[in-house]
Amino acid sequence: MSRLVMKFGGTSVADLDKIRNVACHVRREVEAGHQVAVTVSAMSGKTNELVDWVRSMPVLANRNAPFFDAREYDAVVASGEQVTAGLLAIALQSMGVDARSWLGWQIPVRTDAAHGSARIENIDGAEIIKRFGGGQVAVVAGFQGIGPDNRIATLGRGGSDTSAVALATALEADRCDIYTDVDGVYTTDPRIEPKAKRLGKISFEEMLEMASLGAKVLQVRSVELAMVHGMPVFVRSSFDDPESIDSSPGATPPGTLICSEDEIVEQQIVTGIAYAKDEAQVSLRRVSDKPGIAAAVFGPLADANVNVDMIVQNVSEDGSVTDMTFTVPNGDLEKAVAVIEKSREEIGYQVLQSDPGMVKVSVIGIGMRSHAGVASTAFKTLSEHGVNIRAITTSEIKISILIDADYAELAVRALHSVYGLDK
Ligand code: ASP
Ligand code: MG
Repeated sequence: MSRLVMKFGGTSVADLDKIRNVACHVRREVEAGHQVAVTVSAMSGKTNELVDWVRSMPVLANRNAPFFDAREYDAVVASGEQVTAGLLAIALQSMGVDARSWLGWQIPVRTDAAHGSARIENIDGAEIIKRFGGGQVAVVAGFQGIGPDNRIATLGRGGSDTSAVALATALEADRCDIYTDVDGVYTTDPRIEPKAKRLGKISFEEMLEMASLGAKVLQVRSVELAMVHGMPVFVRSSFDDPESIDSSPGATPPGTLICSEDEIVEQQIVTGIAYAKDEAQVSLRRVSDKPGIAAAVFGPLADANVNVDMIVQNVSEDGSVTDMTFTVPNGDLEKAVAVIEKSREEIGYQVLQSDPGMVKVSVIGIGMRSHAGVASTAFKTLSEHGVNIRAITTSEIKISILIDADYAELAVRALHSVYGLDK
C-alpha cells in the first residue's frame, strides 16, 4: 500500500460537477488501495474575488497606510478553500468513501507570523495518519495555516501547491500528485510552440528554473520544498476521465514526474525553453568605476522592494567609468527609475536609460554542467534569426537572454528546435 497526497487547483474544483469529478479521481486511488489525503484550492476566481472585497473595504479616509489589517485579509481570503474542502468531503461521503475536511488550524499547519505570505513551519500529521488506518480520506484546505498569534495565516497566491507538498512531507507520503488543467510540464509553452512535448520526468532543479522563469505550472516555493525533502511531485490533468486511469502499482498515467536527477536515466542536455514577459531594462551610462557603486545602486532598490533580476556590468577600459545594466519587472520600472534618480549624486552616473517591453528567454538543462557549447548554439541560432541580444546571464544549468518582446516567439521556437526538443 502506498500513501498519496492529491492536490486539485482552482480550475479542477471550479464548479459542483468538477468537484464530483475530483471525488471520482480520489475514489479511484482509494479503491486501488492507497491511503489518500487531498489538498484543495478555492474555486477558480474565488480568491481574486475575496482579495478584491478586502481591498475595497477600507473607508476612503483611511486609504493611506496601513492599508488594512493583514490578519483580517487572511480571515477573508482563506475562506474559499474551506468551501471546497467541505464540498469535496460531502461528495466523497455520498459515494461511500469515508472522508472529512480539515482546516489549517485543525491539523494544525503551523506557520510563521507573515500574514498574507506566511511560511509553513510545521505540520502535525499524527491524527490524519491515525485515521488512514481506519480508511478515512483527509480533505485539507490548502493555502492556509495558523500563525504564532493563533490566527489564520495564508501562504501567498498559488500557495496550495506548497500546502500539498508540505503535507506530503509531513505524512511521509510516497508521492504528491498535483492535478491541474494541463497534463504535465512541457518543453516550452505549447501556445507558442505547438511542437512542444510533454516531459516524462524533470529534475527538481530544472523545474525550479522553469517555474521561476514563467512556466506557471507550480508555485516556486512548492518546488523548493519538494527538492529539500526529496518528495516526488507528479503533475497531471484532472480533466482525464477518472475511470479510465490505471492506478495500480507500476502503471504510468500521463503526466510529468518532478524528481531527483539520479532518477532520470535518459538525460537530455537541454530540457526546456522558458520565457518571462514584462521585463524592463535599466541602463546607467558612464558610472564611475570605483568600490561601492553596485551597493549604491542596488541597496536603495532593495530597500524600495524592487526585484532586480539580471545584472550586467562591464569592466571599464581605463578604470574610470563603465556601464551598468539590470532588469526589473515592468510594473516596478517607474519605482526603480525614481529610486535611481534620487541616488544620482551617490552613484555618479551620466545617463539613465530605461526600456520596458523586454522578454527573457531561458534555455534550461542539467546536462549543461557537463556539455560545452550549449550557450554558443543559442547565440548562433538567435543571430541567424536576426534577434538582437541585450543581456545574458548564466548559471550552471541555464542561460538567460534578454531580447525585445517582438522577437520572443521567434526566439522560443528557434531555440526549441535547435536543441532537438521538437522531435
Ligand atoms: N486559492 C489560492 C490562490 O488563488 C491558493 C491556490 O490556488 O493555490 O492563490
Ligand atoms: Mg496554482
